[in-house]
Amino acid sequence: MAATSAMESVPATALRSVLHRVAQAAELSGRCPDQVKVVAVSKTKPVSVLREVYDAGHRCFGENYVQEIVEKAPQLPEDIEWHFIGNLQSNKVKALLSAVPNLAMVESVDDEKIANHLDRAVGILGRNPLKVLVQVNTSGEISKFGVEPSGCVELAKHVCLNCPNLEFCGLMTIGMLDYTSTPENFKALANCRTEVCRTLGIKEEQCELSMGMSADFEQAIEMGSSIVRIGSTIFGAREYPKKQPN
Ligand SMILES: *Cc1c(COP(=O)(O)O)cnc(C)c1O
Repeated sequence: MAATSAMESVPATALRSVLHRVAQAAELSGRCPDQVKVVAVSKTKPVSVLREVYDAGHRCFGENYVQEIVEKAPQLPEDIEWHFIGNLQSNKVKALLSAVPNLAMVESVDDEKIANHLDRAVGILGRNPLKVLVQVNTSGEISKFGVEPSGCVELAKHVCLNCPNLEFCGLMTIGMLDYTSTPENFKALANCRTEVCRTLGIKEEQCELSMGMSADFEQAIEMGSSIVRIGSTIFGAREYPKKQPN
């Protein structure tokens, strides 16, 4: 690898290394590097650090918490493509959409209710259709988040047929409850895509698979991922503030 310039920030160097590894994994699976999108997951990181990654040329960032994205997005350039990847509550939809006009995608649609809320809010705001992914629980573990694999076709269909202001773009999974993934999780999401594409009559290349995080993105890409969500490998380990006494 080329020597790091003394001026380059730590996250910029880490980004470069991640992009290199993504490109290699894409090639191993017979695809072009630009067929795999890297979402830099910046939750808990300050705007100044996001700015360093932006200045290194990256434009796609992911956040999990509405309060955080709503605070950060207006402080950063408008050509950022924001992905919302966390659990979304209906009563936060309006705040999210109004504060982040450059929200490019919500990856975490996991029931009809939240799809309907998003659809209505996009319509009222009169913005461009919002890209969405259906989040699938591929772990088999009991979890509030993500539709069961057996329900993904129905939810995808609902978005396509009943939500004119949403654009169904594919499927997302986190993996296990502890945020690790196994090859079975990736395989399960790929199987969901096969079902969804068959039912909706769309091509598999038109249905994104968002899977793979810092620890396993290369394997995810080799198993067909087209969106990887990478946090700590770019930004460093996250420090969560200790709970403040009230
Ligand atoms: C935090 C988070 C990531 C990034 O995790 P890392 O292991 O830090 O790369 C990806 N996806 C989701 C949904 C997350 O919450």
